[in-house]
Amino acid sequence: MASQMPMFVETPVATIPPLHNRLHSTFSMLKTYPLEYRLEQLNKLYWAIKDNEQLLADALHADFRKPYHEVYLTEINWLETVVLGMMKNLREWAKDQPIKGVPMTTSLFNKPKMRSEPLGVVLIIGPSNFPAQLVLHPLIGAIAGGNTAVVKPSELTPNTSAVVTRIIEALDPSAYAVVNGGIPETTQLLDLKWDKIVYTGSTRVGRIVAAAAAKNLTPVLLELGGLNPVFVTASANAAIAAKRTAWGKLHNAGQICIAPNYVLVHPSQEQAFVQGFIQALSTYLPNGAKGTPDMASIIDGRSFERVKGLLQTTKGTILCGGGVDERTRFIEPTLVKVNDVGDALMNEEIFGPVLAMLVVDNVDEMLSIARGAGETPLAMYVFSSEKEEQEKLMRGMKSGGVSINDVMLHASMTDVPFGGVGESGHGKYRGRDTFESFVHKRPVLSQPMWIEKQLRLRYSPYTPESLKM
Ligand code: NAD
Repeated sequence: MASQMPMFVETPVATIPPLHNRLHSTFSMLKTYPLEYRLEQLNKLYWAIKDNEQLLADALHADFRKPYHEVYLTEINWLETVVLGMMKNLREWAKDQPIKGVPMTTSLFNKPKMRSEPLGVVLIIGPSNFPAQLVLHPLIGAIAGGNTAVVKPSELTPNTSAVVTRIIEALDPSAYAVVNGGIPETTQLLDLKWDKIVYTGSTRVGRIVAAAAAKNLTPVLLELGGLNPVFVTASANAAIAAKRTAWGKLHNAGQICIAPNYVLVHPSQEQAFVQGFIQALSTYLPNGAKGTPDMASIIDGRSFERVKGLLQTTKGTILCGGGVDERTRFIEPTLVKVNDVGDALMNEEIFGPVLAMLVVDNVDEMLSIARGAGETPLAMYVFSSEKEEQEKLMRGMKSGGVSINDVMLHASMTDVPFGGVGESGHGKYRGRDTFESFVHKRPVLSQPMWIEKQLRLRYSPYTPESLKM
């Protein structure tokens, strides 16, 4: 029998401090410390996701018409793979690691080692574009690390957040809780003292989170956004570059932190790139984009107005697409040839299926334009067939990650550590880092009492002889 969609219910702000206290006392009682407990909770999480697969897919469709194919790949299958991987590896990763060869302190007898200790109470704040994955993946890390946690999913995807709430309710309620809501609820959460905050969302709000965390010296893992450039040099296969870049703009309707924002294309490649882009769209969406079940909508009305506004503000030429429909929050996949770097499309994270293209004479100029955008992007994409050129572009510009001759692929593997640099964030998780980011590495040395005689060189009075020992 199909389950009914749960209701999205905002958490009363006044209940947040007592909830925080409850999770603190659970942590202080060491309830979440034993590995058996963590594995049991991970197992419960796995089954809660499995049991709610259909609801999750229905909720994501209700929120922004996300196609099932994409839900399966980036939410359901992703999370199940990650939680199973964590259950498989946790005992090994959580073991004390022996430390070798520390001069003066190491002996055969005091056996220094690195212990992975839980941090405490973790706050996880999520974005709207992968509203289940980007809160539940860090939660897997928080559980594995032996922490208690509060999850604050996006209020812009109420159906998905309600299903995420149901999934988390399958866990021990004394250790894991959900706070639903928007700015007032998040502001209250940020007023409290946490042992770690994991925030995924815009750079603008990332600054608010970092400032709030700084008051309590709370460590933060910030997964932020940015303007991701695509470079198509004279040596590239521009038709394939266009095909792959178009895919990067269709998936999740371009609402991905690593989606290409703009393309800098060499003049000799312009025609092939434009033709390749248009050709790719007609292959991916043979009946056109409007009404297709294979592309998501824009997540909410405000974001729809923002992307529509960018299309109205640009001084560039729309080469394909440009259609919008307010009722379904639909933006047609669009390629815009802009005239200069000052164009609005070159200066804002587009976060929709719109791509800006600027024709640029050479690689040096491309680099200077991309660097001139000011902030360090989360990703960059280099289409070039020459190794030296690829290296030059990579060294010339910082970014969280890079794909060469492709887009987004470096970030599509559950096991490859992922994170930003500079304004695109700091800290990382995925693979073993999903565990490492949720523990404190605590060196432990245990000195035998009988070894005292061998340690005499460290005590004063110092003599030249003692250094020779
Ligand atoms: P957002 O910044 O608007 O919201 C993210 C979270 O912050 C939500 O839970 C929201 O309730 C909360 N929030 C919003 N305004 C706040 C305020 N003033 N004070 C306190 N909390 C507030 O982001 P979004 O629109 O949901 O997501 C899109 C952004 O997230 C894009 O910039 C995208 O690049 C980024 N993103 C980054 C990654 C990554 O891994 N680096 C992944 C996904 C999305």
